[in-house]
Amino acid sequence: MPNIVVVGAGVTGLTTTLLLSKKPGYHVTVIAKHMPGDYDIEYTSPWAGANWLPMADAAGSKWEKTTWPELARLAKDVPEAGIHFQNTVIYNREKDSNTATGLWLKTLTSTEPWFKNVVSDFRIVPAKDIPTFADSATAFTSLCINTAIYLPYLVSQCLANGATFTRKTISHISEAASLHHSGQKADVIVNCTGLLASKLGGVMDAEVIPVRGQIVVVRNDPGVMLTISGTDDGEDELTYIMKRAAGGGTILGGTYQKGKSDSNPDPNTALQIMRRAVELCPALTNGKGIDALDVVRHGVGLRPYRNGGVRLEKEMIEGCWVVHNYGHGGYGYQSSYGYSDDATALVDEVLAPKAKL
Ligand code: FAD
Repeated sequence: MPNIVVVGAGVTGLTTTLLLSKKPGYHVTVIAKHMPGDYDIEYTSPWAGANWLPMADAAGSKWEKTTWPELARLAKDVPEAGIHFQNTVIYNREKDSNTATGLWLKTLTSTEPWFKNVVSDFRIVPAKDIPTFADSATAFTSLCINTAIYLPYLVSQCLANGATFTRKTISHISEAASLHHSGQKADVIVNCTGLLASKLGGVMDAEVIPVRGQIVVVRNDPGVMLTISGTDDGEDELTYIMKRAAGGGTILGGTYQKGKSDSNPDPNTALQIMRRAVELCPALTNGKGIDALDVVRHGVGLRPYRNGGVRLEKEMIEGCWVVHNYGHGGYGYQSSYGYSDDATALVDEVLAPKAKL
């Protein structure tokens, strides 16, 4: 009966726990400093939009591709997960092709992206329907997740499968080995610590850095999910608008500031975000401009970016196997089932010799 300790209760830790806890005989304990319900600058998941808008290039598309069917199933058949489908339009401006934001959104803004056959209705918007500010545009149905509903939903599914949760901060990854709820030593630890993998003893991953995302949550309804490839006055800023499912409000973004970690929303940036959103989507305030935005709150989250990409591998640390699954940058939700499936396969691999005994 393998004992597994997952460290982390963000979307990565919870999705990995969900998949592990479905396996007969796997006994899973989750330990976490932060849990769904908390809003903290060290805890990224609650701050995300979150939607499924691919960022990986074709070579790295596997994880976003394999996540789409499960998120789409939840949107279609499981209303209590807090995910809904949204008509989506992506605008591209040629002048953004070499900016930080333009490069980051290269896959998304392409008229020939790898995901055109993953979603059901990908189309290129005819030139006559493209506003003058853009050079090309695509449209398709994607989805948006209400993180305030989805994260507790994941916890409830894990609990139903027998996983247990404990609030705990560890200073070294090997401490997790003695924290299984059975009181026995863990057979494997799964490290889903996001940004804090850069500070955790035994891991201390210097490749993990924050990418600061400032957002505004409003009550206004845009009617469509929109993203554009860049702005004229902010090299590491962008404009996106998404309405969360089930009354979660509309997220206006945002910034993509590498290496910055200030947790306070900057008032000037907030004004820029709101001004750009209303310009891109006048319907947001029925043409009444920025003053008609009904603000719920301003926020900042830090994307756990990792130079070289997500760390997904096994490692023996102080006599216990650790499976790492962290560093998902700005795509932790939209790739969650793909990476968690691979992390689960690594756990299976680590436990295989023990199962043969
Ligand atoms: P986290 O959510 O940070 O969770 C880490 C967990 O580890 C926490 O529970 C923490 O307490 C625990 N932990 C860490 N260290 C310790 C320790 N020492 N002891 C105990 N516990 C510990 N992604 C998308 O897919 N689509 C989007 O539209 C999207 N939009 C975004 C918008 C913004 C503004 C931001 C900031 C992010 C967005 N993202 C989006 C990215 C996404 O939010 C992240 O990739 C994802 O949340 C990372 O999740 P995680 O579980 O790896 O990390």
